[in-house]
Parts: sequence; structure tokens; C-alpha cells
Amino acid sequence: MIDTPDNHLKSPKESKSLVWLSSKTKAKTCQLCGKPVQYKVPTEKYIYFECRQGHGWREYYQDQGGSRPQPAKVIRQLGDLFTEEQKKIYSCITAILAEDKIMQWQIDILEKINYLCEQCHASKQDIYQVLKLITLYHKALGDGEK
Ligand SMILES: [Zn+2]
Repeated sequence: MIDTPDNHLKSPKESKSLVWLSSKTKAKTCQLCGKPVQYKVPTEKYIYFECRQGHGWREYYQDQGGSRPQPAKVIRQLGDLFTEEQKKIYSCITAILAEDKIMQWQIDILEKINYLCEQCHASKQDIYQVLKLITLYHKALGDGEK
């Protein structure tokens, strides 16, 4: 095999998403099950963490009576969770959900995902990731304020 200058290893595609974990955060584990934290969502008052098993909890910032330093950037709306690519997929999904009402179709979830993949020119993994982020957003910023 000829070693050309182009033949270098490509670095893995980096995500610009805020919830993408740094190696430091990956070392953090869940207090309930001990599994590593998979997502973190910095909101205006706290950081929401979620482990691989789906256990979620909040850690408040110092000015909220907690011990966390406030991050420079926080999530204020769903769009803040997405990368540019994911935003396009999200718009596409919501357009389909609004117009085609596929969630009411009598087909199983896998077929719905396949349909979304075709219509949005996205991979299954991309679709799952976007759907996961929507769920994550609602869990992180949803009820529980009181
Ligand atoms: Zn857990």
C-alpha cells in the first residue's frame, strides 16, 4: 500500500453539542447505579445529569445554594442542544410530524424511524440522537421546580 499524504487518519467527527461530554465528565458516575454519566445539560439554575440507565438528577449552582460554578453557556431552549446538522434534522422531523401525522399511523416505531430517515436524508442514529435530545430537554427543564 502506498503511503500518500492524503492517507492520514481522519479524526472522529466532533460534535459541537453542549451536551457532548468531556472526558472529565465521563468519569462522573451515577449515585443510584454507579454507571457513567452519559449526558449533562447546563440550564440557568442547575446542571442536569443523566446516566446510561436513564437516572437523572440536578446539581445547583452556587448562587442557587448549590456547589456548582455557573458555566459560561447554558441551555435556554431546545435548539441550544442541537448541532447545526441536528437542527436541520429536527426541523425536518417536526415538519413531518405536523403535516403527515405519522405518529398516528398504524405502523410500528421502527417503520416510523425508517420513514423519517428517508424523508430527512439522515441515518437512524441521527434520528435517534435528535429524538433522545428532545426527551432529554424535557427531562432536564421540565417539572420539578417546586
Ligand atoms: Zn443510574
